[in-house]
This record gives sequence, structure tokens and C-alpha cells, in this order.
Amino acid sequence: MERTLVLLKPDAVHRRLVGDLITRFERKGLKLIGLKLVHADKALAEKHYAVHAARPFFKDLLSFLTSSPTVAIALEGREAVTVVRNLVGATDGTKAPPGTIRGDYAISIQNNLVHGSDSPENAANEIALWFRPEELVSWGPVDGPWVTGS
Ligand code: UDP
Ligand code: MG
Repeated sequence: MERTLVLLKPDAVHRRLVGDLITRFERKGLKLIGLKLVHADKALAEKHYAVHAARPFFKDLLSFLTSSPTVAIALEGREAVTVVRNLVGATDGTKAPPGTIRGDYAISIQNNLVHGSDSPENAANEIALWFRPEELVSWGPVDGPWVTGS
């Protein structure tokens, strides 16, 4: 079973969309294994977006991510990385198709509500960045085989 990190970024919290967005991941069949509200400091934001350090939008992106709380979510499921990326949609809200989270709720490039890991390797690193091992909960939903087909 694959794991991925989702962040509901500060705009999702300000816009009171946290419940709606968690619902989208839950109803797809993904399993919550970690969930918390975090006010990221600069060091955490820099590490999370280290790959973008040289990009012109980096400074603004750090200000955004450190401005106020983010909801950090670890999810597990079949092909969880790809499933989440497909649910989230393209980076620019104006380009993301309707039906995706960004397509339905975002019109900004920066304030696009959600982060989803882009590979299983990055997911493992990002989950370790946002969660301590003891904050991740291993459990089996009673309908597990019916949802995952295994
Ligand atoms: N971002 C931005 N300006 C850009 C591109 C990206 O502010 O021109 C922000 C946006 O919040 C995005 C994040 O940087 O979600 C990370 O960019 P990436 O290309 O990894 O997009 P994602 O994987 O989130 O779709
Ligand atoms: Mg990315």
C-alpha cells in the first residue's frame, strides 16, 4: 500500500474548506493515517519546498506557507501518490479541470489550496518532515478489501 503527504495549505484553512477537502480524499477510498494542524516555521517550509529554492516565486511561497496554519495529512491507499495528484489537478487553478480540487476551488497559481507529493520517494521524505513516526497510525478499515479490491 502506497503512502502520500497532502497539505491543506493556509488558504484552505482561511477559506474554511478543510472539511470539504478531506471529504474528497476520504470518499475516494484513501485511508487517513496522520492528521494535524501545523503552523509551519521558515525551516520547515524551506525544507518542504527545497526543490523550488531557485525559483522566482520561492520567497512568496515561503511567506504564504508560514503565514498561518496548514493541515498536514498522511494518506494510504493503492497508488496513493497518483490518485491524490489526479484529485488535486494542475498547479494553476485556472488550468485545472473542473472536478479536480483546484479546478473546482482555485483561480490562483500560488494559492492553490493543496499540496500532494509527486513520487513515492518524495512522499516518504515529506511524511517524515511533517510527522513524527509515533504520529502515524496504522489501522485497518473494516471495509478494506471492498474498497481496495485486495
Ligand atoms: N507556485 C507558485 N508559482 C508558480 C508555480 C508554483 O507560487 O509559478 C507554488 C504553488 O503553491 C505550487 C507550489 O509552488 O503548488 C509548488 O509548485 P509545483 O510546481 O511543485 O506545483 P504542485 O506540485 O503543487 O502542483
Ligand atoms: Mg510539486
